[in-house]
Amino acid sequence: MTTNQKRIVPKIHTHKSGEQGIFANAYIIETENGLVAVDATLTVSESKSLKKRIDSINKPLLGILLTHAHPDHVAGVTNLLGPSPNNIPIVALESIEKLMRSIEEPKRTQWGPVYKDEWIWKWVFPNRLVKDRETVSFDGMIYRVHDIGPGGDSDANSIWVVESERKVAFVGDLVFEGTHSHIADNHLTEWLNNLEKARELLAGVSKIYPGHGNPGSLDMIDLQKKYLLAYSDAIIELADGQPSLTDDRKNELTSRMQKLLPNGHLSFLIAHSANAVATELAAAGKH
Ligand SMILES: [Zn+2]
Repeated sequence: MTTNQKRIVPKIHTHKSGEQGIFANAYIIETENGLVAVDATLTVSESKSLKKRIDSINKPLLGILLTHAHPDHVAGVTNLLGPSPNNIPIVALESIEKLMRSIEEPKRTQWGPVYKDEWIWKWVFPNRLVKDRETVSFDGMIYRVHDIGPGGDSDANSIWVVESERKVAFVGDLVFEGTHSHIADNHLTEWLNNLEKARELLAGVSKIYPGHGNPGSLDMIDLQKKYLLAYSDAIIELADGQPSLTDDRKNELTSRMQKLLPNGHLSFLIAHSANAVATELAAAGKH
């Protein structure tokens, strides 16, 4: 540990979005002389309320770190920047910056008409690109990025570890807490691999902060794995080698997963992901 590295654990404020913001979390990391945001929420209202919270702490926003490129985590960057937007580093992996640029327009076309005034029509992209394991420093605190590649919810993912005395990590959508998971992006197997990888990577970390739900211990990684394996087992049984499920079987799947996670939000996602996972598993010959 270098002499200027802070030995204390920074104060972490959680901004929890409501249902319209897909229950996505953004975080504000507060150190002595400034703030760093992790992710930025989806909608106009959520991002403005996040900005209000940042302003109310009365310390400058020194940087924004992005975990992955999905709109519920990055769209709101636009509204966090204030009067001199170019002065704030927006830090992300190159793969995440690329993905953000490629999905801005299709997501706008898909969701703009649904969200209307709440959709953020012009995104602001990362202006500082980092590579796997690279560190950035704000107010003497070191932040290290880990590139974990495609998996689960997204084609590009990263984890940010705050290298304070007690390490904490921001894991994006590697882990969902309290909500059902979006598994419809053909990356179930990679997601499971990423959970394994993260277990090793985060060995010294005391607390993890997920993209959705409450922060907790490393056990959350095992719970997510258990959830995905149960989902995949249920699909293997109910799809029986076919790339899609009938509505009846989707209902059966939904009731099984609700038993596993009784108070989980976003239960529509269970059926929503079913055909994608059935296709992925059928293609992999798992039946
Ligand atoms: Zn998310």
